[in-house]
Amino acid sequence: MSNICKAFEMSDMNEQKEHFSKLEIVERFGDECNGKDLYKHHEGCRILKRCPVCDALVLCQYSILHYNQDDDEYYTDYFSVGSREEAVELNEKYDGYEIEREYKGKKILF
Ligand SMILES: [Zn+2]
Repeated sequence: MSNICKAFEMSDMNEQKEHFSKLEIVERFGDECNGKDLYKHHEGCRILKRCPVCDALVLCQYSILHYNQDDDEYYTDYFSVGSREEAVELNEKYDGYEIEREYKGKKILF
């Protein structure tokens, strides 16, 4: 499977978010791999998801920033991946900040 989710080609952010809301969970990778944090800021995780519309895989990185006691900011990054193996490789190579910088494929950083 090497389809690319069409949300990566959309120019409207609300359309993208609406499309990404359809994603289904394939596998939870948790928050750590090889000693690298799989998120930015203070906490988070990565989850491999599948778009049922495009039949494509999307690696999602969720990050939470704690501003103060009761104020959190949530961020989600989306990376188009061709296979589960590619997602696992990204987890093993890059922490939350590195994947944003180093990933050369299609990505959307919210
Ligand atoms: Zn899609």
